[in-house]
Amino acid sequence: MRYSTLHTHTIFSDGKHMPEDNVLSAIAKNMVSIGFSDHSYTDFKLDCCIKPVTTPAYIAEIRRLQKKYADQIEIYLGMEYDGFSTVENRELYDYILGDAHYLKIGDEYCTVDDSKATQLEHIHKHFSGNAMAYAKAYFETYVDSVQRLKPEILGHFDLLTKFNVFDESAPTYQKAALDALTTSLKVSPLIEMNTGAMSRKAKDSPYPAPFLLKEILNQGGHIILNSDSHDLNHLDFYFDESIEILRSVGYKHIVQLIGGKFVEVGI
Ligand SMILES: [Zn+2]
Ligand SMILES: [Zn+2]
Repeated sequence: MRYSTLHTHTIFSDGKHMPEDNVLSAIAKNMVSIGFSDHSYTDFKLDCCIKPVTTPAYIAEIRRLQKKYADQIEIYLGMEYDGFSTVENRELYDYILGDAHYLKIGDEYCTVDDSKATQLEHIHKHFSGNAMAYAKAYFETYVDSVQRLKPEILGHFDLLTKFNVFDESAPTYQKAALDALTTSLKVSPLIEMNTGAMSRKAKDSPYPAPFLLKEILNQGGHIILNSDSHDLNHLDFYFDESIEILRSVGYKHIVQLIGGKFVEVGI
């Protein structure tokens, strides 16, 4: 099948390459569409997000590429919104991803996906070493984010598992995750399978975990396959294998953005 990814990063936020280089890579890979989703502006952490001053250039560049390569690939303009960002001018974008990258504790924004050491430090410092309490707080934050953002696509749902710190088979963990999933799917039934942490060698399986994939299917949700790539070589990283995982869970379709609409494509 021809692949698509709607979760990609460029030099406008923390990606390595120019949007046009990503487009050329996607064309070389015979992808049907590519969407750009640089990180929304967060005033408390500036090193990885798009700045208000560069946002117009980002929008103009993606729209320019859309026209330039219209006969070769479909190009879409998105933004990966963090729940602590303010959504302005949403009508400028073809879609948004909704995500949670931080826990806010007091005045501190605690990064979920920075490093294992940082995550363990936060669990120790703010949750008395109780990883399950951290997990509950993360999933509550995730739900708050999607309820605030109302995104077209739910992004990396179980980002907290990036460093294999949590016992994902624990009933307490699964209940917190499943409760948050049920609420989130009511906001948007479209959730991504995300291979980004794999291409960056942090994880050996995509988000979300298999027990969540099963529940998404049970609840009538839909999967969109995204690479969360920061490198033009990773646009379709682990996609063949991810399709196999989805088939093994019982999926018959994924969703892709084609012709401006989210449509089901057989797998
Ligand atoms: Zn993210
Ligand atoms: Zn991302």
